[in-house]
Amino acid sequence: MDNEIPKVYSPETIEPHWARSWVAQKLYRPSDEPARRRFCLVIPPPNITGSLHMGHMLEHTEIDILMRWHRMSGKDVLWLPGTDHASIATQLIVEQEIGRQVLPDLEPGASARAAWRREGQRRRVEMGRENFLELCWKWKEQNGGTIRRQMERLGASCDWTRDRFTMDPAYSRAVQEVFVRLYTEGLIYRGKYIVNWCPRCGTAVSDLEVVHEERPGHLWYIRYPFEDGSGSITVATTRPETMLGDTAVAVNPGDQRYRSALGRNLVLPLLERVIPVIADDFVDPKFGTGAVKVTPAHDSNDYDMSVRHNLPRVEVIDTSATMTDEAGPYRGLDRFEAREKVVHDLREQGLLEKIEDYPLSVGTCQRCKTVLEPLLSAQWFMKMQELAGPAIRVVEEGRIRITPENYRKIYLDWMGNIHDWCISRQLWWGHRIPVWYCDACGEVIVGHVAPLACPNCELSSLRPEMDVLDTWFSSALWPFATLGWPDDTADLRRFYPNDLMIMGFDILFFWGARMIMMGMKFMNDVPFRELYIHALVRDAEKQKMSKTKGNVIDPLEITEKFGTDAVRFALAISAAPGTDIAFSVEKIESYRAFANKIWNAGRFILMNLQNLPEAWHGQLAEALRPVPELGFSAVASLESLALADRWIFSRLQAVSRKVDEALAGFRFHEAAYEVYHFFWHEICDWYLEWVKPEITRRPEGAKVPPAWINLARVFESALHLLHPFMPFITEELWQRLPRAGGSADLLSKVSGSAVPLPSEEGIKGWWRERSISLTAFKLVNERAADPVSENQFALMQDLIVSLRNAKAEMGLQKVKPSAQVGCEELRWLELFRAHLETILRLSTFQALNFTRERLEATAPGVRGGPIFALRVFHEQPVDQEAERSRLRKEKEKLEHELAKVEAQLENQEFLSRAPREVVRGVEHRRTELAGHLRKILESLERFTEDRSV
Ligand SMILES: [Zn+2]
Ligand SMILES: [Zn+2]
Repeated sequence: MDNEIPKVYSPETIEPHWARSWVAQKLYRPSDEPARRRFCLVIPPPNITGSLHMGHMLEHTEIDILMRWHRMSGKDVLWLPGTDHASIATQLIVEQEIGRQVLPDLEPGASARAAWRREGQRRRVEMGRENFLELCWKWKEQNGGTIRRQMERLGASCDWTRDRFTMDPAYSRAVQEVFVRLYTEGLIYRGKYIVNWCPRCGTAVSDLEVVHEERPGHLWYIRYPFEDGSGSITVATTRPETMLGDTAVAVNPGDQRYRSALGRNLVLPLLERVIPVIADDFVDPKFGTGAVKVTPAHDSNDYDMSVRHNLPRVEVIDTSATMTDEAGPYRGLDRFEAREKVVHDLREQGLLEKIEDYPLSVGTCQRCKTVLEPLLSAQWFMKMQELAGPAIRVVEEGRIRITPENYRKIYLDWMGNIHDWCISRQLWWGHRIPVWYCDACGEVIVGHVAPLACPNCELSSLRPEMDVLDTWFSSALWPFATLGWPDDTADLRRFYPNDLMIMGFDILFFWGARMIMMGMKFMNDVPFRELYIHALVRDAEKQKMSKTKGNVIDPLEITEKFGTDAVRFALAISAAPGTDIAFSVEKIESYRAFANKIWNAGRFILMNLQNLPEAWHGQLAEALRPVPELGFSAVASLESLALADRWIFSRLQAVSRKVDEALAGFRFHEAAYEVYHFFWHEICDWYLEWVKPEITRRPEGAKVPPAWINLARVFESALHLLHPFMPFITEELWQRLPRAGGSADLLSKVSGSAVPLPSEEGIKGWWRERSISLTAFKLVNERAADPVSENQFALMQDLIVSLRNAKAEMGLQKVKPSAQVGCEELRWLELFRAHLETILRLSTFQALNFTRERLEATAPGVRGGPIFALRVFHEQPVDQEAERSRLRKEKEKLEHELAKVEAQLENQEFLSRAPREVVRGVEHRRTELAGHLRKILESLERFTEDRSV
């Protein structure tokens, strides 16, 4: 039979099938009914150079959970996907690729990569801009779609028909428009300032792209003699080679030691240049000797000083980090060679006073790790202070809510301290800055199209600006440029502001802050109403994952091995806001086991369902038809339900509510835990077992029994709750349930057979039935809340568990004993009597008799609780010796475990460092172990007493 449900759960066949089907059906395209409430998130665009890593996997899992949850709450959801052109990263990769083709024989590794890059850079200059850009586009064509394919396979519920790229023609037009408007308003300017320069990449980079590394260094003390021959001043520096560019020595104006030196001249050693001693408040009298060298062309603070004191700026290091002509005898040397030679020469001349060890914070290039050089360079800048104002206010006023809360302060601090942004890059791949220069008259022309002639002198030989914009300039426009801005499109009106943005902390300033500034500037509204900053995925010891440590988990490998659903669930249940995630393969294994559990429960239900008469299928399908406002229609007649049904429906609404609340607060871990516990420990362990006889009974009569209706509803609801976390397995099982569309075509929808694609106009009528992810109805039904039934059911569970424990402790697993249950309250006795058959079945007892007498808890063989006590009778003699030795072994084991847990709870380091819920978990374990141990000790005591009786 081809409709048989496979015994083994195999994500490797289910997942690719549904992934393809969802994309092919364009399932996640929002409707065009503007009246419906919408929910929108634009993806943090991955780089086209990227391949999916664990960070993406977490980010996309969290986003997808929320998108599916909002969609299933009845909203019209848009998750807009796209990719970023990644100017510098792409250019480096293409250069490296060119190098690799020229030098194919190098042994792959770091040194080969460096050689390829050098060669590729040379060839790029040789072939010229247009040819190189053609290669970049070709590379993008061939490799830029990797992430998209991976995301499709992992089931990301994006609207792929709206896929965007930051260098699409329409998007580029938005970038130009923003540049022109900001320039016209004077918010973009060109100037020669100190920038962070990467000599390897040959471009300026912004402050945010500087990676500061702590390295051991030195402080060199150098004597600068006075011009008049009367002694010298000693300055301390960490970079002696830059002294060649000194144009002054500065001291603090309040520093008495140097009072008489002010206004006099010094002779710069090695170059014999005459330079003044100046006074400036910036100088810290406690650093070194209190006198510092001033190098305006190679230090931004010194540059500022040169503006205040009108000092010349001598550039001694060029863009390739080589010494310039100004460096005199050191010209042509690399900056680090020059350092050695300068120190050597100073020592020879007796001008090096001493050298001290001194730890340095060295700025390196985020992309290539080269030590950056502060250089004077003509660049384009964006004035940030004016743009920051509104972006600060919207966060202060709560128009954008940032979670976790602590990032709000970090954001506001940074924004209050913002510097102008260097937006030009000396690269070719990217948005060329829309500027032309007239060298004849000095006119600067800014516009959307190349001008034919200079508007000032009418000459036509204009020179285009060669620089491109920082990649983050274009991504800052992402929330509105992806929706059609600057045109007034329907999408822009409907989906701006976006509702939510999720990103890692590492790009909060690169991207998050700039999106807020640009959104306020060009849309006059926030780009998104909520900003959630997700944590990092680390290894099981909470170490950062890195290639050198060898602890990197590849998301594609593990989803291949365990299934996407298991990986998603493992991530979600670990994702507490503000806490980095300790991730391991073992963790995924246990959620793979959860997926198996779901599969087996589903299989049990569906197999029994298949044995039902055809007519019942139709009635079940009708009963499963959702009533959007109420949940299931039949929950309306709650009063007629059996205890287990009242209990499970009450739990269902409580769990649904908790999941809703947790997801609204980004507490993915709480939501996942609720769903997990509900499915495994309530539905599988209790509800299914409870109703089993009615489900497996031979069908009779014309009407489907209520037990079936209730079970089908509970199961379908559980699939709904699980779906945002585990979209594939839930879709597969849901598709096999009887549908109102008729059970006949049920089987054509399951995996392995082609999913029929509806016609465009057919979609509207059918869409609610096409996928579990599109079914929208409220699970939280206030009327199902039933604390009385929950209480009664808990007592039944308690009795059954007590009976099971008694059997186990007495070594009676293989027999069906009898017991007496004493309970003083009539209403509980009646409850027990009414469910006698179920109690006997689930506890495997022969018979129970009930009494209102109090069974003395201290009497031999009696186990008591606050509400009932029980005494077990058995005919089969217990093997006392075997039982005692089993109990003793158990006791030793428990004592050992308890000691370990207690030691952990006394460990101050553990207590101070472990997250609160971990500590709570260990405390809970201690209570459990102690309780269990107490029971074992009691049993052991009873054995001793029994023998004495
Ligand atoms: Zn670099
Ligand atoms: Zn001109």
